[in-house]
Formats: sequence, C-alpha cells, structure tokens
Amino acid sequence: MSDIITRRLVILGKQGAGKGTQCELLVERYGVAHISTGDILRAAAAAGTELGRQAKELMDAGELVGDELILGIVAQRLTEPDTAAGFLLDGFPRTEAQADGLFALLAPHSVERAIDLDVPDEVVTQRMLDRSRADDTPEAIARRLELYEAETAPLRKLFADRGVLVTVDGLGTPAQVHGRIVAAIEEAP
Ligand code: AMP
Repeated sequence: MSDIITRRLVILGKQGAGKGTQCELLVERYGVAHISTGDILRAAAAAGTELGRQAKELMDAGELVGDELILGIVAQRLTEPDTAAGFLLDGFPRTEAQADGLFALLAPHSVERAIDLDVPDEVVTQRMLDRSRADDTPEAIARRLELYEAETAPLRKLFADRGVLVTVDGLGTPAQVHGRIVAAIEEAP
C-alpha cells in the first residue's frame, strides 16, 4: 500500500547525524526523490557556476547560504517530474524563513513527516572529523553545530505544531536507525 502514497518527507539532524546514509535507505525503500541542498550546492561549486562560487565561500566557512537562493533552488527542483512520486528533503529547511517558504511551496499539501534524527554533539563531531571532507575543519564543524542550535533546532516546533514531527534516536547501526524511521513514518502520527 505504501507505494501509492506520495511521501513528502523532511529529515532534520545535525551534520554527521547519519542523514546521508538514512536518505539512501529511504530512497531505496520508498522511491522518493532525494533533494539535498548541500549536494546541489557542492555540484554547483565543482562545476564553477556563479551560484557555486557564491556558495563555496560560505560553505567552507560553515556559514549558511542565503534563504532566497536556497528557496529558489528547492522551488526549481520540486518542479522536476521525479518529485511527483514523493521526495525527501535533506539539509533543508535550515531556517524559519526556509520552512515558511517550503510550506508556501507545498500548499495545499503539507509535509507528511519531519524526521528529527537525534545524535549528541560529541558523536557527530567525531564522525565529521573521521570523514574529513574538505569543508570539515574543526572550526567549521563547531560553527555548524552552533548554527544548527540557533537556526535549525527551532524548526522542530514548526513541524510539531503541524503534527508531523517525529524524533528518532540516531544511535545504532544504519539498519536499526532505518527501522525506527520507517516505523515512525508508517505509524499514525
Ligand atoms: P550539508 O551537506 O547539508 O551539510 O550542507 C553543506 C553546506 O551547504 C552547509 O554548511 C551550508 O553552507 C550549505 N547549505 C546546504 N543546505 C543549506 C540550506 N538549506 N540553507 C543554507 N545553507 C545550506
């Protein structure tokens, strides 16, 4: 039955919480389009486009890219046909302005579930240092955690107010965490 439902999913969580791995598993399971604003920005930076140049400096410093620019990217991406069967937003929204923009874009529909992948700061910091991506300097990691608390954590309330927030323990094997997420998606809210 679940394949006839249009899944409109959001995954929230700090960098290093395991969103990438869980997104892969969810895409496989539900056939939804994976929309990662970080991946889109990194691709633009690698291609050396104007957008990429603007974004790269901010990304390297761990700062957020502007809301208008991000909302433009997401609005465009949501017009692509593969999103009709459902989508999973990863790394977006990150600010209240982005969340408001998303709700406006989706109206009259809503987000079906916002999955808050919960992992302590110490664990995500160690994971990010281990994976050592070019933009994962200790300073940038600390800055991203600070911004997450200030800008993104408050979004939980917006999703909770809409009755779609589920908090999932992000510690454990990928399969364990995936099982918890699937249960949270498929259970009545
Ligand atoms: P991510 O791969 O989601 O961790 O994103 C990597 C970087 O891209 C972030 O540290 C930001 O600089 C930028 N970025 C990605 N998504 C967003 C967003 N929704 N709003 C603002 N900046 C973003």
